[in-house]
Amino acid sequence: MTHELMTLPFSLDALAPHISKETLEYHYGKHHRAYVNKLNELIQGTEFATLTLTEIIKKASGPLFNNAAQVWNHNFYWYGLTPQPSAKPTGDLAAAIDRSFGSFDQFAAQFKTAATTKFGSGWTWLVKTADGSLAIRNSNDAENPLQWNQLALLTCDVWEHAYYVDYRNERPRYFDAFWSLVNWDFVAKNLQPNAINS
Ligand code: MN
Repeated sequence: MTHELMTLPFSLDALAPHISKETLEYHYGKHHRAYVNKLNELIQGTEFATLTLTEIIKKASGPLFNNAAQVWNHNFYWYGLTPQPSAKPTGDLAAAIDRSFGSFDQFAAQFKTAATTKFGSGWTWLVKTADGSLAIRNSNDAENPLQWNQLALLTCDVWEHAYYVDYRNERPRYFDAFWSLVNWDFVAKNLQPNAINS
């Protein structure tokens, strides 16, 4: 099968001024597309050619894993953003955050610390763990929660390519922009069975 670059759920200029059209042109239009193209190139004529993206991620290693996981991670990242965000989670998600972190504000502070102190390229995740509690976890490079058998709820891309155009080296400023665009409805849906992340 041929893997396709997902269609963004918003226009390229929809996240401005927090995340600019130019950043999306590079991050989605070049980086994300390059992972999709490389993935298609690497699976050609191999046992991976007929597998789904998640099957490849669970089975592959090396460059194939890296490119497949980066496709998945970016899909998940884009779905987690919206030009029309609500300020805070509600309902079951809000209750789960309160149970695991004490309050939304404590959760937000911990997530920001994790994302802004992560050394080098990677991702900051909110995951649901096996015991049902929520946790914040950083991954290096392309690593993702499918490898941990944990359910991904939200991710922040902390590779420099996510923020260098808009914020240069200032990852905390990028993080605040990211945080203001989080799609809490998407995060809440990921708590349900058969969500995109399983
Ligand atoms: Mn990226």
